[in-house]
Amino acid sequence: MSGLVYTPLDEIPKIHQELQQAFRSGKTSSIAFRKEQIAQVGYMLKDHEQRWKDAAFADLGRPALETEMFDFSPVLNEVRLAYDNVEKWAKQQSAPFSLSWFVMSPKLKAEPKGVILIIAPFNFPLFLLLNPLVTAIAAGNAVLLKPSEMTPTMSALLAELMPQYLDNDLYRFVNGGVAETTKASQNTIRTILELQWDHILYIGNARVAKIVSMAAAKHLTPVTTELGGKNPVVIDPKCDIKTAARRILWGKTANCGQVCLAPDYVLVPKDFQDTFVDAMKEVYATFYPTGPANSDSFGRVVSEAHTNRIKHLLDETKGTVVLGGEVDVSKKYIAPTIVKDVTEDDALMSDEIFGPVLAVVPVKDVNEAIKIINSREEDHPLAVYVFSQDAAFKSQVFGHTQSGAALANDVIINAGAHGLPVGGVGPSGSGYYRGKQTFDQLTHLRVSMDNPSWPFPPYKPGGLKRASMALFP
Ligand code: NAD
Repeated sequence: MSGLVYTPLDEIPKIHQELQQAFRSGKTSSIAFRKEQIAQVGYMLKDHEQRWKDAAFADLGRPALETEMFDFSPVLNEVRLAYDNVEKWAKQQSAPFSLSWFVMSPKLKAEPKGVILIIAPFNFPLFLLLNPLVTAIAAGNAVLLKPSEMTPTMSALLAELMPQYLDNDLYRFVNGGVAETTKASQNTIRTILELQWDHILYIGNARVAKIVSMAAAKHLTPVTTELGGKNPVVIDPKCDIKTAARRILWGKTANCGQVCLAPDYVLVPKDFQDTFVDAMKEVYATFYPTGPANSDSFGRVVSEAHTNRIKHLLDETKGTVVLGGEVDVSKKYIAPTIVKDVTEDDALMSDEIFGPVLAVVPVKDVNEAIKIINSREEDHPLAVYVFSQDAAFKSQVFGHTQSGAALANDVIINAGAHGLPVGGVGPSGSGYYRGKQTFDQLTHLRVSMDNPSWPFPPYKPGGLKRASMALFP
C-alpha cells in the first residue's frame, strides 16, 4: 500500500499563493541559501537510499541497480554540478566593453523567474522531478512539484521526506492526477493548470504537452516540454554486431523499456535481419539465463493499462515475434520481445512503444532507412542511433536526420553524460532539463544600466562630446 494522499483541490490555489509570497520574501536571493537547499536534495536521497529503491521496486518492479543508475546518480550529479556552479551561473556579468556605453555600467544578471511548476512522468520519478528541482533552486525560484500518480509509493515517500529536508515555504508538491488516471473525481492537473505560473517544465507525452501548453498560453507562461517519440536505430551490416546487440537489448529492457531514449525500432538491411536477430537472441540468453520472468534484473510495466496497451500492439502486429512475446497483464509483465519483418504501416510503428518490445524493420539500404525516419509524422525523435564503425555511414544518417541527440554505437547514455543537456526538438520537445541550459531557461537575463547623464533639449553644440555620450565615436 502506497499511503499516497491526494492533495485536496481547494489547497492548490492556497499553495500557489503561499509560493508566490515566499518567492517575494527575497529568501532565495541568497546564494548560500540556494546551496544549502541544493545539498538538502542530495541528503534527502542519500539518507533514505534503501527506502527510495524499495519504493521504485514497489511501483515499477525495478532492479535496485537501475534505480541507482537512472534515478540516483543523475540527481546526485546534478546536485554537485549546481552546488559547485551556482555562484558562477548567478553572478552579475558586465556587458562586453564598448567605448560608447561603458560609463553607463551595462550589466546582465540571471534572475529567478518566480514560481515554477514541474510536472513529471512515472518512468524515472526522482531523476525527472528532482533534476529540474535542483536547477530551479539554483536559479532562485520557488517550485511546485507535481509527481506522476502512476508511481504512488515514490510520491508518498516524497510527500513524507520533502517537508523534512527542504524549505516548506518555497518548495512544495501536489499529488494527484486527472480524473481518469486517479479513479478519483478530482482533477488535480486541471486545477493546477488554471493558475498562473512563471514557467512550466513538463516532462511526459506529447498529447498532454499540448494540453499543458494551451493552458500556459492563457497566461503567456513559457513552457519547456520534454517529450517522447520513436527513436530509430540504424544498423550498418559491417558494425560490431555483438556489441550492438548487447547495447540495444540493454537499452530496450532497462526500466522495462520505459525510457524516453529507449531504442524503439531498428532499421536493418533485409539480408542482415536474421544475423541481427540471432545476435539479439544470443545476448538475451546471457542477460536472462533462467528467463526474464524469474530474473531480478528485469522490471515491470508501470500499470495494467499500459501492459494492455503494449499487448494490443503485439496482438495487432503483422510482423513475426522471434523472441519473447509472453504477456501477463495481472502481473504487469511483458517479456523482452523482438518482432521482425515489421513494415512502416504496422501497429508497432504507429506510436512510441514505451515498453520492452523492439520492432525490426528490414530496409534495402541506408537511404531507405533515412527516408523512413524522415517520413514519420514526428520525424524529429529524441535520439537517432547508428551502429557503425564507418564515419561516412554515421555522418550520412546524422547529416540527413534531425533529433534531440545523435549517438553512435550506444543508446541512452547521453542522458547521464556530464556536460550534455537532455532535450528534444520539434515534436520530441523544446528546451532542456539538465545543467546550465536549464538554469538559463528558469532565469531571466535582467539587464541594468546606470546612466550618469544624457543630452536633453534644447540641444547644445558639442553636447555629445563627453565620453558617456559618444554613441558613435
Ligand atoms: P504520466 O502518465 O506519468 O504523465 C506525465 C505527467 O502528466 C503526470 O504528472 C500526469 O499527472 C500528467 N498528466 C496526465 N494527464 C494529464 C492531462 N490530461 N493534463 C495535464 N497533465 C496530465 O507519463 P507519460 O506522459 O505517459 O510519460 C511517458 C512519456 O514521457 C513518454 O512519451 C516518454 O517518452 C516521455 N518522456 C520524455 C522524457 C524526456 O526527457 N524527453 C523523459 C521521460 C519520459
